Amino acid sequence: MLTEKELRENLNKIEGAGYKSYKSLLGEYDFGDYALFIDSVQRDPFASPSRLRVRVYNDKAGFPSDTYTSRSREIALRDYLARKFNENIKLFSLGNRGSGGSGRISIDAPGQEILERSSVVITHLYIEVRFTAGMPAIGRSVAAKHAEAMLFEELPKIVNLSLKFENLDEAQLYEHLHCAEDADFIRGELENLGLVAFIAEKSLLPRVSGVDDRPLPEEDAILFESPVELREDLFLPNLGMISGMGIPKGVTLITGGGFHGKSTLLRAIERGIYNHIPGDGREFVVTNPNAVKIRAEDGRRVENVNIKPFISKLPFGKETESFSTDDASGSTSQAANILEALEVGADALLIDEDTTATNFMIRDHRMQELVAKNNEPINPFIDKVKSLFREHRVSTVLVIGGSGDYFDVADRVIRMTEYKPEEVTEEAKEIADRFKTERVVEGGDYFGVLTDRIPIRESVDAAKGKRKAKISQKGLHSIKFGKNLIDISALEQLVDMSQTNAIGDAIVYSKRYMDGVKTLREITSLVMMDIARNGLDVLKKKVAGDYAEFRSLELAAAINRLRTLHMEQKK
Ligand code: ADP
Ligand code: MG
Repeated sequence: MLTEKELRENLNKIEGAGYKSYKSLLGEYDFGDYALFIDSVQRDPFASPSRLRVRVYNDKAGFPSDTYTSRSREIALRDYLARKFNENIKLFSLGNRGSGGSGRISIDAPGQEILERSSVVITHLYIEVRFTAGMPAIGRSVAAKHAEAMLFEELPKIVNLSLKFENLDEAQLYEHLHCAEDADFIRGELENLGLVAFIAEKSLLPRVSGVDDRPLPEEDAILFESPVELREDLFLPNLGMISGMGIPKGVTLITGGGFHGKSTLLRAIERGIYNHIPGDGREFVVTNPNAVKIRAEDGRRVENVNIKPFISKLPFGKETESFSTDDASGSTSQAANILEALEVGADALLIDEDTTATNFMIRDHRMQELVAKNNEPINPFIDKVKSLFREHRVSTVLVIGGSGDYFDVADRVIRMTEYKPEEVTEEAKEIADRFKTERVVEGGDYFGVLTDRIPIRESVDAAKGKRKAKISQKGLHSIKFGKNLIDISALEQLVDMSQTNAIGDAIVYSKRYMDGVKTLREITSLVMMDIARNGLDVLKKKVAGDYAEFRSLELAAAINRLRTLHMEQKK
């Protein structure tokens, strides 16, 4: 390791030299309180920035062990430090020190969720922060004085104020940790309580807008209030007593008039697979970690999925036990989305009528009269939702304001009126008795066979012509995978671009387990086990500070959407 002084000298030696001479600085430097690593240097000031790390050893960082001993706390602490580092960049970094990205320090910064991310890592020896910096240039020549200011004035301030316990707001830090730990505690209790989700009293569910995930200002929002019938009380390790609405396993309808808050409630439940930061409003909206949002997704590709439980014999005798298409319809895409989620272990389906195919969800009496069953390949979801729970213990939470036929199959009905939920199961059942639908149940006695599939390795290829694997995320919703673009915009539970980034690399990583024998479920769970054991860093040889955690469900869903994919069904 070189010293801080040597870095300064070497920097001054290359003042005014060609940009490439920054490469001479690659290495590790002792800054007393921390070590600085310059891992890679960009080609020019306009290219993607250089990658750096700082390591603060525990005797200097001074975090008491109770800030990271539990898994919940460790992840929350890392998240908190990433936020602080980002805040202090904003406060202390000038940001513009010449051409292109000169002087711009940046870290992969979290949003409303507390996710495990690779930008901050804690070991028993040190805290390591991975970030990027634009090495300063005037035109294309080294601007050493600017680089010196960035690395010797700004960065030490940022490190010092973000990564040392004594300089942080202790109360705020512990609130962050407690919040995540309590939410994880609730998530762990759901199974015992027989619940799919829990929504605490006084939760604030609505968001600023469809593109801004921060909470609506409290004066504009109606806080959540649980109906007494569904009330659950819990004792949290940090916060103590808390109560809220439990959504039991089974089939739950969320109904009510348009604009009365149905979708907002469901969206909060979808996001309840993640922990949220204090002040978010959804801190204690907690959902089964394997709950999956399902929607129709016409146009998607489907590879060799057995969709027979929902769809039998298509026109022209097209087989549905091994169904493939490059352009799925609304109903076939929704069927495939459900069966693929079941294939990799979904515990609950979350469905909103706003984004479903009507003919997949319901076929009413009059339609049954006009279109004979032998001309309708679809067994509508209404006739499968009960057997799905009975046989596979997979619950459904369904937002539906448009069809009372679902009262017949619901275990629970929740009605939203002006953003307030009421439990109206009995009323709905009584109505269902009084006005018989006379529709014929079409699903058969059983849900149907679930078929595992085996991915074929050669069909998962990120190489572009002869070039090596190239994966990049293009925003939250698509992954550039070699020559292909994987459209993952239907994966509505992804919240962070760094998740997309990690999934892209996890697809390549997962190939090591594709041996023509292992199923998609086995492969994705092996990948998840490697990550659990060794961290997100396993996904790449180089240290990457821009990964965030994701579920095997989303990894499988991304693989399923790769247009070159070939799958064999397991016999
Ligand atoms: P629905 O699905 O029943 O038609 P939405 O959930 O889309 O209704 O909500 C309609 C509007 O009301 C949205 O703009 C949403 O942000 C707002 N909203 C939802 N819940 C609340 C609430 N608790 N307080 C204030 N506004 C809310
Ligand atoms: Mg809606």
